[in-house]
Amino acid sequence: MAPTGGALAELRRTNLKKVVSALRQSGTLSQSELARVTGLSEATVSNLVRVLIEEGRVKLSKGRRNGRSVNLVELDAAAEELALAVTVAREAITAAAVDHEGSVLAERSRLRGQETPYDEERSTLVELIQELRAVDGVSSRPLAGVGLALCVSIDPVSNTVPVGFGGHLPAFDPSWYGADVTGELEDETGLPVRLINDCDAALLAEVRWGAARGCRDVLYLHLSSGVGGALILGGLLYRGGLGGIGELGHSSTDTSGRLCVCGNRGCLETKVGGEALLSHVAALHGDDLALGRLAELARSGDPGCVRIVTDAAQDIVSGLANVVAVLAPQRFILGGELAAAGPALLDPVSHGMQRMASPRNWRGNVVLAELGGHAIAIGAARFVFGGTELCLQSMK
Ligand SMILES: [Zn+2]
Repeated sequence: MAPTGGALAELRRTNLKKVVSALRQSGTLSQSELARVTGLSEATVSNLVRVLIEEGRVKLSKGRRNGRSVNLVELDAAAEELALAVTVAREAITAAAVDHEGSVLAERSRLRGQETPYDEERSTLVELIQELRAVDGVSSRPLAGVGLALCVSIDPVSNTVPVGFGGHLPAFDPSWYGADVTGELEDETGLPVRLINDCDAALLAEVRWGAARGCRDVLYLHLSSGVGGALILGGLLYRGGLGGIGELGHSSTDTSGRLCVCGNRGCLETKVGGEALLSHVAALHGDDLALGRLAELARSGDPGCVRIVTDAAQDIVSGLANVVAVLAPQRFILGGELAAAGPALLDPVSHGMQRMASPRNWRGNVVLAELGGHAIAIGAARFVFGGTELCLQSMK
């Protein structure tokens, strides 16, 4: 039976996506080539190309195939859809318009207070999204949706921020817990919204455009004020069902260590998080040193900062050698502000991993993240374009 009504519209949307994605991968194709690549009939391709021309999304040019003159189809880059990536970090909210190639076209940012109620923050998110939509070069383009990256665990089944242990989460007011963030933002902006953890987003970006291009099994450790992590296994992002997957910062090696915000003791975050490291260097550099500056000083050979970073490297190795032995990743990426220490961090972690991870399972290498400050935004955009197909577990 031929599909009708809604089913027909859905089929056309799916087929349009196939054609656009084939053009994105191959550049310029004739209609016969498009039919072959997509598996659609030439008549269907011809109809779809007509729709794309009407929408101003493709350009036609004359070319030759097998000695015959043909129409060649290519996407009009200036009309390609964009994703809006909104990152909620501890101290700021940043909204960026990002294209399929991971280029940031425009950006807007606001400072935030970590105890701001959810309703107020949601208004700021909506304002930033609307501001960005009005920017020249963004306003004329179709939008695929909003990727909202939060510096906190996400429950990927309910798409919410879960209740913090002890009723407290750093950087988020309790009114965020369980709130229908995606539903409410979708209602207010009219755009599809996808929620993602910031480290998951950064890793999606590093695997596509950065330090782990082409790798299928990758661990990512984000070293900033907090310590976060993410896993890609078999080429897919693993998010589990509770939102704590990949939280490598909460791997504990010391049962009598400091109590952590997660309720455990001696977690990696209590040892190598920004607050812990800065408290150690205060004797040499005072109380107001920022973590990024500590990293730069270590990179330039300041003895006290080198020592602190070397010790942090040892803690990282102790915390993660067993994780690495179990998952046998091809690559282990170090990102976040502390990664600015460069070789002062990378070398001792690499050497420590050689020594402590099971030789049978560790044949990978440790590298520094490559994409810096925009990694989270472009990864969140990739998540908008690719969705749960990028994830190991279906979140339906
Ligand atoms: Zn913890």
